[in-house]
Amino acid sequence: MSARILDGNEIAAAMREELRSEVEELREQRQITPGLAVVLVGDDPASQSYVRNKGKACRDVGIHSVQRNLEASATLDEVLEEVERLNADPAIHGILVQLPLPDQDESQVLNAIAPGKDVDGLHPLNLGKLLRQEEGFLPCTPHGVQQILLRSGIPIAGQHVVVVGRSTLVGRPVANILLQKAEDANATVTLCHSGTADLAAHTRSGDIVIVAAGHAQMIGADMIRDGATVIDVGINFIPDPTRKSGRRMVGDVDFEAASQVAGAITPVPGGVGPMTITMLLYNTIWSAKRHHGPN
Ligand code: NAD
Repeated sequence: MSARILDGNEIAAAMREELRSEVEELREQRQITPGLAVVLVGDDPASQSYVRNKGKACRDVGIHSVQRNLEASATLDEVLEEVERLNADPAIHGILVQLPLPDQDESQVLNAIAPGKDVDGLHPLNLGKLLRQEEGFLPCTPHGVQQILLRSGIPIAGQHVVVVGRSTLVGRPVANILLQKAEDANATVTLCHSGTADLAAHTRSGDIVIVAAGHAQMIGADMIRDGATVIDVGINFIPDPTRKSGRRMVGDVDFEAASQVAGAITPVPGGVGPMTITMLLYNTIWSAKRHHGPN
């Protein structure tokens, strides 16, 4: 069997088209332009590239985007002051601090973002709301995973979802999103982690397997049930002498092998990745609408 490929680029492009129309409508009918601020501390090349991509994605859909750069040596207070300025700026509806920070305490910085502008959904108040199933910002990658499933017509309700990885960024929130008592969720969720005994026995029992463990190609075909849906969140690099860079990007799933068994699977790159930025745009627009109240 050869799995159906769940094309994240295609789904993200369709969503961004919808978001572009929404921004246009907000601007024309209500004179509202959603605004996102990205704070970059230091000059790590990978972070710089992520931040550039976020700025470009904003401009593509008409979101006003600003970038605030601080030196890697900035004190915690200096980073907090920048966050406070953005909290008070009425043109900014979303604030994202690019992680990891070089040296500053990440929890203190994330906790300083106004919960109403926390478009990354990582503030304790928004994570708490998710746990209580109250309306709040959903973290972007887990929300993107749910959108891939929904927009691909893959049933979630009543299905057994096995999540590998319990991080606050991906594993825990995706488990919580999919077990919500709601039409677009309602799954039975098993959450596996580094302390799980017999991981394969769990993953083989999943109708949907979501992997966010950060280990290149750790999930093989023998860990997937025939016809299951596999969502690969992992981003890893392995040596590849055929590439100019000498390496290539792979997920946490052995794609070639697993796609012979799975019913549907996301590739890496081109699966979950493009959805993460898309959900950031979604959250920024939603935030702008919330700030300005109903029509
Ligand atoms: P993390 O390191 O914070 O968490 C990894 C989790 O995997 C841990 O909870 C750990 O318990 C679990 N784990 C590790 N080894 C395991 C094993 N052998 N068996 C079972 N569980 C195991 O990582 P993270 O931030 O959740 O990210 C996970 C992966 O997803 C990384 O490769 C990261 O780069 C990628 N990621 C991708 C996106 C995206 O947009 N596509 C976004 C965030 C993270």
